[in-house]
Amino acid sequence: MRLNLGDIVPISTLDWPGKVVLVVFTRGCPLRCPYCSNGRFIEAPEDGEGTDVEQVRARILDAADFIDGVVFSGGEPFMQPMALKELASYAKGIGLLVGVHTNGAYPDRIGSMADDGLLDSVFLDVKAPLEYELYRAACGADLTTFEAIKRSVALCCGLRKGQKIRYLEARTTVFRGIGDKPSDIEKIARAIEFADAYVVQQGRPEVAMDEKIKALDAVPRNELLSLAAAARKASKGIGSIKVRTHIFGDEVVE
Ligand code: SF4
Repeated sequence: MRLNLGDIVPISTLDWPGKVVLVVFTRGCPLRCPYCSNGRFIEAPEDGEGTDVEQVRARILDAADFIDGVVFSGGEPFMQPMALKELASYAKGIGLLVGVHTNGAYPDRIGSMADDGLLDSVFLDVKAPLEYELYRAACGADLTTFEAIKRSVALCCGLRKGQKIRYLEARTTVFRGIGDKPSDIEKIARAIEFADAYVVQQGRPEVAMDEKIKALDAVPRNELLSLAAAARKASKGIGSIKVRTHIFGDEVVE
């Protein structure tokens, strides 16, 4: 079996709070966020051009003594459900935790992996309030994909509430004009009750591929703190609400 592999980071302390993980970046994504900085991971090579999963398994085994788990990121890891399950199953089999960063476009695949006991954590992008026009502007989702993402948000909250996964983190990347209104963040916060954490993260225009986004200023930290405070007021059920900036890292908002 082959995986359209973007990269492997053997040791990371940034991709799962409190855990040391190996990160597997997959290639291919069904969305086209104007601020995406992962251009090299959006397009996937033709089928059959990927890396043999055996090579990825070997990298996981090499790191196993030094890590708590494996995180799959991208791109969108659930675009390759068979290879993802295969590698998750391998990681679980040698005693590692498994987390997936996802944009939520494939709810059935998230559910299937959770049902199979292969998913410990979900790191879910919620790019805008769950209203079609806002979502489309934030990431180019068509109506079918938007409906799928809505199902994923509800599904992941249900999985966490039912303790079928042990950690759920939702994240919104804020740019000027994308998720930068308190009302946007309040709506998102109300949609993700039962998440362990909600991260309001500072978008970095300088690394975006889109020239219009590149020309914007980053939303400043004090504005992000106000947005996070609005989220805190809107939701009593979310565990912790954080602001993530390039300079200050993660800051919990009480
Ligand atoms: S979901 Fe992620 S990888 Fe896909 S286009 Fe958006 S930012 Fe890029």
